[in-house]
Amino acid sequence: MAVKEEIREALAGIVEGKIFYDEPMSRHTSTGVGGCADALVLINGENELAGVIRSLRQRSIEFLVAGNLTNVIVRDGGYRGVIVLMRNLNNVSYRCVPENGHYINAQAGASLASVVNRAAAAELAGMEFCAGIPGSVGGAVWMNAGAYGSEIKDVITAVSLLDAAGNKKNLATAEITFNYRRTVLPGQSIITGAEFKLAKGKAAEIKEKVADILRKRREKHPLDYPNAGSVFKNLPGMPAGRLIEEIGLKGARRGNAEISTKHANFICNTGGATAADVLELIELVQKTARRQKGVELTPELVIIGED
Ligand SMILES: Cc1cc2nc3c(=O)[nH]c(=O)nc-3n(C[C@H](O)[C@H](O)[C@H](O)COP(=O)(O)OP(=O)(O)OC[C@H]3O[C@@H](n4cnc5c(N)ncnc54)[C@H](O)[C@@H]3O)c2cc1C
Repeated sequence: MAVKEEIREALAGIVEGKIFYDEPMSRHTSTGVGGCADALVLINGENELAGVIRSLRQRSIEFLVAGNLTNVIVRDGGYRGVIVLMRNLNNVSYRCVPENGHYINAQAGASLASVVNRAAAAELAGMEFCAGIPGSVGGAVWMNAGAYGSEIKDVITAVSLLDAAGNKKNLATAEITFNYRRTVLPGQSIITGAEFKLAKGKAAEIKEKVADILRKRREKHPLDYPNAGSVFKNLPGMPAGRLIEEIGLKGARRGNAEISTKHANFICNTGGATAADVLELIELVQKTARRQKGVELTPELVIIGED
């Protein structure tokens, strides 16, 4: 059976949310580039998620679970499989456990912004570093997202997930390894939520810290153009942006993609760029860094699909 037919069969009767077939991923990725996915599914509930994953796995259909697609590049030839979008699983709640502490629980599809806002509303400090990171909770846990000296691992106490067999599980952070921009979870885990433990703070200070971080981001990052945030991981003692400047590639262009003149670790879609344009720039940076400096730059971005 052709893959597309198999996908239709796999999703039939299970998906309560929306399904888009042959969906241009440029409409959904933060870079605005990317070919068509065979299907994109908007999941509305955790049981639905488990059903979809089980059905796709039974048929060995490829899939990628994603949040806000702010860290994914889909090649121009598109993705042969299903993008499972978690955005609608976005509940965020606060609870205070007497003599234990203050917790925010968030489903994987909740935006980091909503967690930052919920924490601020409850006068809880610790989440401010996530202000301005446009991802979801699931994506942030998977990437161990970080900024301004803090990472997700510093604030989460537990992750809930669906394991490889499709069973619901809760893992305490002691059972998880958090690396720089990559969290190691048991194979094929799908993150369904996370628990954040935060400290009671002062409303005005939390608000000011968030505003300050957002101000810094606006000053330093090229937010006027679609992009995927930092393209490369920093090297020990050397921010990737500075290295890219030193090798003379700030402002380099391929097609309609440009290494930002504002921050060289960002690649901007200046209008009508393709994934190939972005990937050519990534390769150019890697080759030049190797040749001029003898160092290997590794992308933070997740790159999927066919050329
Ligand atoms: C302007 C801008 C600024 C940024 N600043 C920062 C920053 O300061 N720090 C930083 O760390 N990042 C930053 N990013 C990158 C990105 O926003 C973060 O890494 C974010 O955490 C990714 O979340 P997402 O929901 O968009 O993930 P996606 O792009 O949707 O997915 C990323 C990866 O996570 C996996 N994933 C997502 N959800 C799940 C899930 N529920 N279960 C299993 N796997 C999952 C996907 O399969 C994929 O491999 C920035 C991006 C932009 C565009």
